[in-house]
Amino acid sequence: MEDFYCPKCFSKLKRLEGCGAVGYFCDSCKTLISRKKILNHEEMEKRSKKITKKI
Ligand SMILES: [Zn+2]
Repeated sequence: MEDFYCPKCFSKLKRLEGCGAVGYFCDSCKTLISRKKILNHEEMEKRSKKITKKI
């Protein structure tokens, strides 16, 4: 199973399942992340590198 990451803090997201729908929850931000915004491992690495460069 693939892991997904938060677009804001890049933490691994918890997968929530219920009523046939799947949601992703970030423990650090305490928010649900919509499926359109979640990052897969590759996207997370790309984005976190970009941010590291800026800093
Ligand atoms: Zn987060």
